[in-house]
Amino acid sequence: MSTIFTKIIDREIPADIVFEDDNVLAFRDINPQAPVHVLIIPKKCIPTINDIQPDDEALVGKLFTTAAKLAKEWGVAEDGYRVVMNCNEYAGQTVFHIHLHMLAGKPMGWPPYTETLKQPV
Ligand code: 5GP
Repeated sequence: MSTIFTKIIDREIPADIVFEDDNVLAFRDINPQAPVHVLIIPKKCIPTINDIQPDDEALVGKLFTTAAKLAKEWGVAEDGYRVVMNCNEYAGQTVFHIHLHMLAGKPMGWPPYTETLKQPV
């Protein structure tokens, strides 16, 4: 299934691309939630975390090493940054092509939700 991210990979729609290799693409989020907000995606379309297969483990690891590489290059690694991957409705996933959000450049609160957790799972 094709998403808007496939169109970005194929250059059918524009994006501010900050990194690319044979397997991974990173570009700035269109609606940034921090001074640095980049999406790091595999070129292979995997819809959700639930669809990641054992063969994809190296590819998914590459999303994290790319985040760390960009953080170091941009001088935000030492202050710190957040990486997030949302899965399905409760987490707020809106684009069904896995993507690692990399957020940096300001202190961030934790936890990221506002509801009180009444019963730990
Ligand atoms: P999700 O909610 O699925 O975890 O995150 C999807 C992200 O993709 C959102 O932060 C949203 O702003 C971003 N996004 C959606 N459409 C586009 C687009 O066309 N271009 C870019 N650069 N980001 C997009």
